[in-house]
Amino acid sequence: MAYHYDDSNIFAKILRGEIPNDTVAENDHALAFRDISPKAPTHVLVIPKGKYVSFDDFSANASDAEIAGFMRLCAQVAASEGVSLDGGNGFRAITNAGSDGVQEVPHFHLHILGGRNMGPMLL
Ligand code: 5GP
Repeated sequence: MAYHYDDSNIFAKILRGEIPNDTVAENDHALAFRDISPKAPTHVLVIPKGKYVSFDDFSANASDAEIAGFMRLCAQVAASEGVSLDGGNGFRAITNAGSDGVQEVPHFHLHILGGRNMGPMLL
């Protein structure tokens, strides 16, 4: 069964320039911007520019160039935020998928959280 992408989701509107965002970095395939409700000193969302609902949709259906572009932007953000292991203290990368994953926005995104000890994983 195909994944269903809803063009009215808030990150689709951000990508179309219909609502503002606090951009951190961008490349041909992905956009990184600050979460509107940050849960840590660094809380950046990285999204692909293509229409993918979730991590599994993206991993199964994006091109190698899109996947590489997305991952490289994640690493670039970790470095520019000072949380990369190359000089910083680290970070947590989280993605929520679907109802059991409690995904609020149905456009695939990775949360990059850092700048403090993130504590144990919540279950
Ligand atoms: P999810 O629960 O889908 O993994 O996370 C969605 C995230 O998007 C939340 O952390 C929420 O604060 C963030 N968010 C929701 N609406 C907006 C918005 O309009 N702008 C930005 N920058 N972040 C948003």
